[in-house]
Amino acid sequence: MAKIFCVANQKGGVGKTTTTVNLAAGLAKVGQRVLMVDLDPQGNATMGSGVDKRSMELSVYDVLLESASVKEAAIFSEKCGYHVLGANRELAGAEVELVELERRDQRLKTALAAVDADYDFVLIDCPPSLSMLTLNGLCSAHGVIVPMQCEYFALEGLTDLVNTIKQVHANLNPDLQIIGLLRVMFDPRITLQQQVSDQLKAHFGDKVFDSVIPRNVRLAEAPSYGLPGVVFDPAARGSQAFVAFATEMVARINQM
Ligand code: ADP
Ligand code: MG
Repeated sequence: MAKIFCVANQKGGVGKTTTTVNLAAGLAKVGQRVLMVDLDPQGNATMGSGVDKRSMELSVYDVLLESASVKEAAIFSEKCGYHVLGANRELAGAEVELVELERRDQRLKTALAAVDADYDFVLIDCPPSLSMLTLNGLCSAHGVIVPMQCEYFALEGLTDLVNTIKQVHANLNPDLQIIGLLRVMFDPRITLQQQVSDQLKAHFGDKVFDSVIPRNVRLAEAPSYGLPGVVFDPAARGSQAFVAFATEMVARINQM
């Protein structure tokens, strides 16, 4: 039985893709079988996992339109140790094409059901919008991981996402819950970040992961080598934090 998680936040540039690929690599490192699904037409998680989005024959687009299975379209990234169901610009068209189709929000869920026994974790990198693509992710998932920077408007920015998750939970996917908020790009020297972090814990309690991902330049450099930081520079502080987070996730799902 695979546990399926969306990495979502409607803001761009908050660390969704970095979290997805590094958690995937961290989980692989601790012996988990992982499928990473890229639902963002930008294809950054695909490229950042060592898969060239321009030369993929099949992608998540074909899976959503039911012209390929996950098994056919997923590519094993040798360097990263996990499977990649990749995305490229073609996926932007799916948004429009899906509107015409039946079960348009359930397509990824149906496709993933066929590989349920093949993985321990499926991680879905969502685009920075609450679109039909994100909805497919949320309908497939057991939970949502929300990466966030500890900035002034952090809590306010969460309201839309929390409301969407509530609606999907009520109408489409009763399994869905927020698994946790992950503090990313954290710099403890900045008083404001420490304050927002404290507020988060006061407000969301144990929904805030214990692991904290520091701001670390190695994590930002890794994508240009087509690798998650965890693989590119395992000794970097950011990489070690993601492996610790992977261990925390394994412990959390054992309690679910
Ligand atoms: P999103 O997918 O939410 O748009 P990204 O994961 O692409 O966000 O991150 C946005 C930018 O911040 C990228 O350039 C990424 O390399 C950088 N970044 C993300 N996490 C960290 C971190 N912990 N330390 C330093 N840079 C980071
Ligand atoms: Mg992204």
